Amino acid sequence: MASEPLSATDLFECKKCGDCCKGYGGTFVSREDILRIAEFIREDPDRFIEKYCRMSGRRHVLAQAESGYCIFWDGLCRIHPVKPWMCRIWPFIPSTLIDIDNWRIMATCCPGMRTDIPDERLESSLRRILHSRDRRL
Ligand code: SF4
Ligand code: SF4
Repeated sequence: MASEPLSATDLFECKKCGDCCKGYGGTFVSREDILRIAEFIREDPDRFIEKYCRMSGRRHVLAQAESGYCIFWDGLCRIHPVKPWMCRIWPFIPSTLIDIDNWRIMATCCPGMRTDIPDERLESSLRRILHSRDRRL
């Protein structure tokens, strides 16, 4: 009998190492993210973009400090209650859910992602999460 798919909490447990807040080209922020974060830190949205965002192609990403970490990283996320969508759903982003190779690549930078699962079971588990609401949204 085939193994049951695993849930999001079976597949991932954050180790709070902060590695995902460092490098990798920055974190994309949508207009909604920008408005929520700007309100949280009491900054005008346009001024927020000037001070805390950079462009990556045609999209805004959060700027990085000289340390290489996200500008909002300070041993922990300073905007945790309103952190961007990408940070909230990590590691269940579309690209890792549709391709287990991407899951395994991302897992080399994120110790919270399990890699000790056979491909077939990992694939069926990620597919189920993709088609469900089990994404910590
Ligand atoms: S790299 Fe993974 S385990 Fe580490 S803080 Fe980020 S999400 Fe958590
Ligand atoms: S917003 Fe917070 S969780 Fe997201 S990259 Fe920056 S410090 Fe990390």
